[in-house]
Amino acid sequence: MFIADIKELDIQDGEGARVSIYVSGCHFHCKGCHNPQAWNFNYGREFTDEDINHIVNLMDNDYISGLSILGGEPMELINQKGLVPLVNKVKEKFPNKNIWCYTGYDFEKDVLGNMVPKFEFTKDFLKKIDIVVDGQFVEDKKLVDLKFRGSYNQRKIDVQKTLETNSLVTMKFGDEVRYGGVA
Ligand code: SF4
Repeated sequence: MFIADIKELDIQDGEGARVSIYVSGCHFHCKGCHNPQAWNFNYGREFTDEDINHIVNLMDNDYISGLSILGGEPMELINQKGLVPLVNKVKEKFPNKNIWCYTGYDFEKDVLGNMVPKFEFTKDFLKKIDIVVDGQFVEDKKLVDLKFRGSYNQRKIDVQKTLETNSLVTMKFGDEVRYGGVA
């Protein structure tokens, strides 16, 4: 797995102050994507054990609420596999900090319906993820300063409750009223 960046402080991609990692590789190629250089699976540099230790050290501060995983596309199979040791280590060290993961895949159809039945590493990965924000970026549904997402088609999903109940559990971002929804 290749990564484009690790940010030691991110307040846009999840609640609270966070550490974030940007993985490389995404086949969706959404119009208006903010990070097209990371479509290439070999962009950036190879992810190593030192990166895992670096992220754990960055998270070892009381003001850090959790880890956000972005891309590129974290749910591309090669990236899921590469991320399992990271999410395992983060949850082992910080069981009370949360992990958010952003994906262009549809969580019900693609992740639960297709990946989970086929791949053990998908199950291993999802066991450690608290929130998934799913859906590709849609330029026509972009609003400035949306909370924790680029376009309002994207959903916030409680992964553990969804896995427990076997039925999709979505959450509010709190700004849905901006496009006619209920916040
Ligand atoms: S899914 Fe995300 S990273 Fe991939 S093209 Fe769309 S906006 Fe860019």
